[in-house]
Amino acid sequence: VRRDRVQVAVIGAGPAGVLAATLLHRQGISVRVLEKNHFPRFSIGESLLPQSMVYLEEAGLIGGLQDKAQELGFQFKNGAGFRHQGRYVDFDFTDKVSPGPGTTFQVKRAAFDKLLADQAQEQGVDIRFGHGIDTVTTDEQQALLTGTDNEGNAYQVAADFVLDASGFARVLPRLFDLESPSGLAPRQSFFTHVRDHIAPADFDRNKILISVHPQHHDVWYWLIPFSDGTCSLGVVGEVAYFEERGLDNETMLRTLVAEEPGLKALLSQAQYLNPVNSLKGYSAKVKQLWGKRYALLGNAGEFLDPVFSSGVTIAFTSASLAAKALVRQFKGDVVDWQADYAQPLQQGVDVFRTYVEGWYDGIFQDVIFYPNPQAQIKRMVCSILAGYAWDRSNPYVAESKRRLAALAEVCRLN
Ligand code: FAD
Repeated sequence: VRRDRVQVAVIGAGPAGVLAATLLHRQGISVRVLEKNHFPRFSIGESLLPQSMVYLEEAGLIGGLQDKAQELGFQFKNGAGFRHQGRYVDFDFTDKVSPGPGTTFQVKRAAFDKLLADQAQEQGVDIRFGHGIDTVTTDEQQALLTGTDNEGNAYQVAADFVLDASGFARVLPRLFDLESPSGLAPRQSFFTHVRDHIAPADFDRNKILISVHPQHHDVWYWLIPFSDGTCSLGVVGEVAYFEERGLDNETMLRTLVAEEPGLKALLSQAQYLNPVNSLKGYSAKVKQLWGKRYALLGNAGEFLDPVFSSGVTIAFTSASLAAKALVRQFKGDVVDWQADYAQPLQQGVDVFRTYVEGWYDGIFQDVIFYPNPQAQIKRMVCSILAGYAWDRSNPYVAESKRRLAALAEVCRLN
């Protein structure tokens, strides 16, 4: 069996894996990314948050994105709009308290992930497509990854450290028995792309639109516009809710869209472009985010929920934190992976969790749809929606649970 040796092996070339590998490579660390698929390949997760632009800048990947955005149909994004029972509220991500970018893009992930991987390779990052990893062992000497290469031959990589960025495949959580209950209800999503034919005056294409079902506040829809006249359209609800309705994927999505009058009107001329897809039970958590010679990045660690489009931002944050820790470790510093990686990552994830839970139990929806928000409070909430969930100078980050509960109470009383 062929066996190569590198300092860091990365499983998966999605946003987390490519960002981590690029940051490490730029610091002179030998790294290899093993990616099971060939790109472009489909992925869900098309609406980015401005905070994620910080990391693309850090890795020298932002220029290519800006240059290619138009050609690839990516849509400039400056905020989020929310609609419930005829009421529409929007957040302008540039009107926030946290420093940093206030705009980003909505991207077709097949093209976006390929663009990042291409740019990383241009910088010299070693990515092997068609190389799936099946087993990983770690001991005092090394981490050893075994899989199959793109010609079907057995293949091994020995590394000082392995980063699992395998997304929903969750390679190390499965192999090392790290899975733990997510604490969020199992939800399901039905989605497709549509040619939307929406009149420009009816839709602010610079914002993702989140609509709430008129009767069931925990059922919601995304409409993510691209710049080429298409949108990503999806609906999310509890698995049991959809099972009770017992419809095929396309009928389910079409029926639910027809139940929300605002969306029904917007999409009256829409053509569905591909078969309606479904994913369920995607919320996931782990007992630990690191261990001997390994760390878990992005979705291979914790995944909450799609409602605030936080997935890629969390994936990038994990990659950046892990790369910084590894750079120090290879310089001979002692890295405390709990204090230097897991805790700082978890802090922002837990902030998003507060708002995700608040969305589903309704209190955060009361805040979002409150008609007379105080401007400064709205800016603080807006920072979080723009991805700045690690900015502890924002009280709605530092004390997210208490602040959200208090704010919701005020909105309810008025
Ligand atoms: P991925 O992007 O999944 O990449 C993992 C890579 O690992 C893949 O390329 C895969 O082929 C590879 N791989 C898997 N197994 C192996 C193996 N054994 N060997 C080698 N390679 C392997 N996020 C947002 O930011 N915005 C959104 O609007 C959004 N909407 C979402 C909607 C839904 C319904 C869901 C479920 C999620 C959504 N997300 C969204 C989340 C987003 O999809 C993920 O958070 C993001 O893709 C995570 O990136 P990643 O790099 O961790 O993993």
